[in-house]
Amino acid sequence: MNKQQNILIIGGGLCGSLLALRLGQRGYRVSVYEMRPDIRQVNTDSGRSINLALSDRGKKAMKLVGIEEQIKAFCVPMTGRILHDVSGKTMFSAYSGRENEFINSISRGQLNALLIDEAEKHKYVSFYFNKKCLSVDFEKTTALFKDYDTKKEFIEDADVIIATDGAGSALRKSYFTARKFLFSYSQDYLTHGYKELSIPADKNGGYQIDKNALHIWGREDFMLIALPNLDGSFTVTLFLSYDEGDYNFNNLTTKERVLEFFDKYFKDALEIMPNLAEEFFKNPTSPLGTIRCSPWHYKGNTLLMGDAAHAIVPFYGQGMNASLEDIVEFDQVLDNHQGDWETVFKTYEASRRKDTNAIADLAIDNFHEMKGHVNSDIFRQKRALEMA
Ligand code: FAD
Repeated sequence: MNKQQNILIIGGGLCGSLLALRLGQRGYRVSVYEMRPDIRQVNTDSGRSINLALSDRGKKAMKLVGIEEQIKAFCVPMTGRILHDVSGKTMFSAYSGRENEFINSISRGQLNALLIDEAEKHKYVSFYFNKKCLSVDFEKTTALFKDYDTKKEFIEDADVIIATDGAGSALRKSYFTARKFLFSYSQDYLTHGYKELSIPADKNGGYQIDKNALHIWGREDFMLIALPNLDGSFTVTLFLSYDEGDYNFNNLTTKERVLEFFDKYFKDALEIMPNLAEEFFKNPTSPLGTIRCSPWHYKGNTLLMGDAAHAIVPFYGQGMNASLEDIVEFDQVLDNHQGDWETVFKTYEASRRKDTNAIADLAIDNFHEMKGHVNSDIFRQKRALEMA
């Protein structure tokens, strides 16, 4: 097959930059168009899942492209969850009974930057930043972009276009609005949204709570979690209803009320969150949704991958892992059908969809599990054991 074919990737996030790297390793000519500035020069992720739990599925993808050793430097291992009850008591619950089994808290920015660096080492891989895809003509295999630097629009053509542009995918919108084929699409929001906050490092740069765990303050109707960062801080995420319950995002409108809410339900966390009120009003509140669509591809011209095809809620910590795993599966299909894009896309979608549907369902189930049961049932069981 002619590997000098031009592959255009829309979106240079985790999935897109990993795909570019893998296709570069396979000898393809790849152009990645990313709407944000270069993450290696500007930090654009403030308030947006700064760190993520990287599990075995994601690590397999790192292994595929040969960077599993390099990423260790960006990871804080988490061997289990630490559950915090309302009185401040904590309980450790291991992820696995086996030694050396853990998940990792990894910096989104550092991982993304490494993937871009590695991809760019390949002669035929190029990244173009500040270029937002507006729409895709999937019949002509062209994409319309807005260049944020020149303020001009331009069209790029390619042999194949792969959209890894996340939950708001421009290709997916084009499939939907063009009405040229039967395209099914659903987006289901939870009643809860999320906001990122932080626990800073102590004055010596150390961790204020156990660093090797994912901390959970489950309170039945809402929940707080914290994942460690390398610099001694934790990224904290509050999951809360927009408009239900005594405390919700719509009625937490003053500093006093936010502090009252945290004092009542997350007192031990509040004591180590000096910037809470400021961050609460500075950082965005974002929705949580599940996206399903079908088909992911149009003939052999275009394909959706990662969150663009299957965005899920974050309660299993598997959205990124699934998006990275997409590349592992895609790579295997390429081994068998390289040269015939339509068969590659069709085979990939047929084998991948059942897994992404399954993790979407599990993630919603785990939302209820995490905010509810981790708080009450497990502590109840623990107390019963202590009393026995
Ligand atoms: P994205 O990360 O969304 O990347 C898309 C890229 O495309 C971005 O760089 C964006 O700027 C760019 N882009 C978007 N539109 C355009 C356009 N029109 N033109 C050009 N470029 C465009 N997953 C885990 O595995 N573990 C976790 O612990 C975890 N925690 C999470 C916590 C929260 C609060 C949330 C919301 C998600 C979490 N996830 C987690 C899910 C994870 O963030 C996503 O699944 C993952 O980022 C998907 O990667 P992606 O590359 O497909 O999409």
